[in-house]
Amino acid sequence: MNCKHIKKILITDYIDDEADDKIRKNVEEHLKKCESCGRFYEDLKKEAVSPFKEIRDMKVPDEVWDNIRAKIGEEKKAFDIGGILDPLKRIFILPKPALAMVSFLLFVVIALSGVKVYQVYNYNLTKDYLKDQMSYLLALNGDADGNGFDTSIENIFL
Ligand SMILES: [Zn+2]
Repeated sequence: MNCKHIKKILITDYIDDEADDKIRKNVEEHLKKCESCGRFYEDLKKEAVSPFKEIRDMKVPDEVWDNIRAKIGEEKKAFDIGGILDPLKRIFILPKPALAMVSFLLFVVIALSGVKVYQVYNYNLTKDYLKDQMSYLLALNGDADGNGFDTSIENIFL
C-alpha cells in the first residue's frame, strides 16, 4: 500500500474504527515506518477527532437552556398577539379557496336557474302557442257537429 492509499484509509475507515484487522495491521505497520503518514495521522487525530471527543463530553449549560426556553416563550406570546388579528386575516387571506368555491357554486346555481327560467319561459311560449293553435282549430271546427262538412274552413274554400 502506498502513502496515498494509507492516508485515504486513515481518513475514512481507520479513524472511524471500521477497518478490518488485516488493513488495520497494514496501516499500523506503515505508520511505524513512514514518517509522513505518521505525522498525517497525528494531525488527523488532533483536527478531526479530538474536538468531537470534547463535544461529546460537554454539558449544555443551564443558562443556554433558560435562554432557549425564554425564546420559545416569547415566540408563543408573539403568536398569541398575532392571534388577535387573525380573524381579519382569515376573512381576507385564508378563505380564498373557500370564496372561490362559493363563487363557483353561486355561478353554477345562477347558470342552472337561468337555464331553468329559460326552459320554463320556452315551455310557456310553446304552451301558449299550442293553446292558440288549438283554440284556432277549435274555432275553425267550432260549428261542426261531428260531420265535418259544415266547418267554417269548408265554407271559405269550398
Ligand atoms: Zn506513508
